[in-house]
Amino acid sequence: MKEISCKLLVIGAGPGGYVCAIRAGQLGIDTVIVEAGKPGGTCLNVGCIPSKALIHAAEEFEKLSHMAGGKSPLGITVAAPSLDLAATIAWKDGIVSRLNNGVAGLLKKAGVKTVHGWATFRDGKTVAVETEIGMQVIRAETVVIATGSAPVDLPSLPFGGPVISSTEALALSEVPERLAVVGGGYIGLELGIAFAKLGAKVTVVEALPRVLAQYDAELTRPVVKRLAELGIEVLVNAKAKGLSTKRDALLVETNGKNGKIAGDMVLVTVGRKPVTEGWGLEQIDLDMAGSFIRIDDQCRSSMRGIFAIGDVTGEPMLAHRAMAQGEMVAEIVAGHKRSWDRRAIPAVCFTDPELVTAGLSPEEAKTRGEIKVGLFPFIANGRAMTKLGEDGFVRVVARADNHLVLGIQAVGQGVSELSTAFGLALEMGATLEDIAGTIHAHPTQGEGFPEAALKALGRAVHV
Ligand code: FAD
Repeated sequence: MKEISCKLLVIGAGPGGYVCAIRAGQLGIDTVIVEAGKPGGTCLNVGCIPSKALIHAAEEFEKLSHMAGGKSPLGITVAAPSLDLAATIAWKDGIVSRLNNGVAGLLKKAGVKTVHGWATFRDGKTVAVETEIGMQVIRAETVVIATGSAPVDLPSLPFGGPVISSTEALALSEVPERLAVVGGGYIGLELGIAFAKLGAKVTVVEALPRVLAQYDAELTRPVVKRLAELGIEVLVNAKAKGLSTKRDALLVETNGKNGKIAGDMVLVTVGRKPVTEGWGLEQIDLDMAGSFIRIDDQCRSSMRGIFAIGDVTGEPMLAHRAMAQGEMVAEIVAGHKRSWDRRAIPAVCFTDPELVTAGLSPEEAKTRGEIKVGLFPFIANGRAMTKLGEDGFVRVVARADNHLVLGIQAVGQGVSELSTAFGLALEMGATLEDIAGTIHAHPTQGEGFPEAALKALGRAVHV
């Protein structure tokens, strides 16, 4: 058995863990990172990156299919496209592999030692790692838990056979003819839309009265409309009850009535759970916040010398939150004065059209006082028209008294890129006048942002 010591030990090399380790290495901290899988975690290997690759391929395929159908107003016609999903997946795997190597290289460049294997706590300062070459014991002054999250299944639909999670959905070699998606949150809809564009007959089963239920109906309306255009059937107030005896259909109860959805595959996307089992949490007995590890505004757990970051610490389970926490913790360990003071964590749904939110929704903002809301529709935006992306809008929410911007939302083609401007505006404490007074390049969809601010100020120009 080998033993090593270090100042900082990071468990898990997802976006939280690897960013923490790289920053710590850059700050001259003697750092070790342990990872059981490949560098990059869920996000890089089976989450953000592979899903966006599949979504892009599906978009391209659908555009060509649309043109082949002679329906394109652009005057372009092409022959009907064909798809080799195995080749698409191989292309996606190539991107993932390049990024795996990139993360491994950055860790090395920062002087971080990587240990491959599964880590288990022995006590608050000691971790044992099962590696390919035997057990390695690591003693550390400070430990960061960045073990991430995993897909949740349903008791009536355990993963296996035709019942798959997002991980398997991102590695299929053939497009299923009929795909039932259980759970109409962002992961289910992103993947459901992609498979519909690739030719699957998709049905979404959602237990709540609306899909994307955490967003307001005004914001999700263009997405719901597009689901119908793509031929995706959406069942709301519907509960998945299990597979039929022949395992070729999903049993569903909708508004008290039992029914069946024929499906070759059932993709279950009902949420993700923190990875808090199998690594000796019981040895260190940390305080929990529900199923997540409880942390303070410096990501410290209830035990001195143990920090926790990323999905294992709660919502929003997003890669950029994990990264920001990782960077902050590395600096705290290096002795810098830091605490969590971020105003906004933007969130994007890479649906069709895309949806982005930063800060407070109108409903949330209203609970804090009087507000002003300005909405600019893309139907009045030249760039959106040239991209056939007129459905959607930018919406700005501000305090009525001093016009401080509290929240910004958008839905529309390609609006994920606007999340950068939205996050920056909130972080800088922008007012409606600041946004309205910033010159935005023409013609861009970004022009919708100052126009929405002008609308809230009662002096919109283009609507
Ligand atoms: P993870 O990325 O889950 O990494 C944890 C790592 O720890 C894993 O590699 C695991 O192998 C390792 N590990 C765990 N326990 C141990 C142990 N005991 N020993 C050794 N190693 C261990 N987020 C976005 O922001 N944007 C998106 O577009 C987006 N799309 C997504 C799409 C899908 C399909 C999915 C599933 C997720 C998506 N997410 C997205 C969420 C994002 O992937 C997570 O928020 C992010 O990966 C969390 O990072 P993390 O570092 O906390 O944990």
